[in-house]
Amino acid sequence: MITPEKLSLNTATVSKQWNLQQAVEGCLRHGIGGIAPWRDKLHEAGVSQGARMIRESGLAVSGLCRGGWYTAEGALTQSVIDDNKAAVDEAVAIGAACLVMVVGGLAPGSRDLIGARQIVTEGLGKTLEYARTVNMPIAIEPLHPMYAADRACVNTTGQALDICDELGDGIGVALDVYHIWWDPDIRAQIQRAGKERLLAFHICDWLSPTSDMLTDRGMMGDGVIDIRHYRAMVEHQGFNGLNEVEIFSAENWWKRDPDEVLQEMISRAREC
Ligand code: ZN
Repeated sequence: MITPEKLSLNTATVSKQWNLQQAVEGCLRHGIGGIAPWRDKLHEAGVSQGARMIRESGLAVSGLCRGGWYTAEGALTQSVIDDNKAAVDEAVAIGAACLVMVVGGLAPGSRDLIGARQIVTEGLGKTLEYARTVNMPIAIEPLHPMYAADRACVNTTGQALDICDELGDGIGVALDVYHIWWDPDIRAQIQRAGKERLLAFHICDWLSPTSDMLTDRGMMGDGVIDIRHYRAMVEHQGFNGLNEVEIFSAENWWKRDPDEVLQEMISRAREC
């Protein structure tokens, strides 16, 4: 059973309904223990103002979403490096447990997946160098392989951990049940990650059938993922962070009253 204090609201879950302040107030109203803002919501509020709002709320911050997109300009450019440095600073400002990285897919017009992965590793290395100086953990979020072209060319936990091994201290993984549930190697890879590199845990559900690759995620319990099973695996390694609820749902949850969404989140989480 996940109690409300052990939940974190990823602002994507109510991204169409609430700004940052409303999300913070919603969490407090419902007794949810933490929040994980997306950068657009933080920018909209103003970084220093948003950071103050979050700090004063007393909510834990399970992560900042997101840095990465290293392949966006076809090569590792200074603007991409600078944007990631800014993301690190923002994560520090809000007291985030980690900066979550969606690393980027194929460069525009490219078929060079191996090259994309090299750009990503190099970019992560550069961001990590800076993040270490301000003690901000970097969390690679491996994405389901259906996103390899357009969002992230790091697609398995094993692949993410290979990069972590190469780069050294200060970097780990953000595991999202939506992206890892199908992976036959996941148990071994979670063991390999260990407590130190398990930086975030995201929950939602995989609907079957799924109508949209990006915006048809389900509420916990509405799909096919045995969330309890994966949560037990990370807890077995000593992970004791929050369970961050991240649901992109254009046709369902984004259309509902956000207070109802939070209530449903809480009651579903009790069952897993
Ligand atoms: Zn996620």
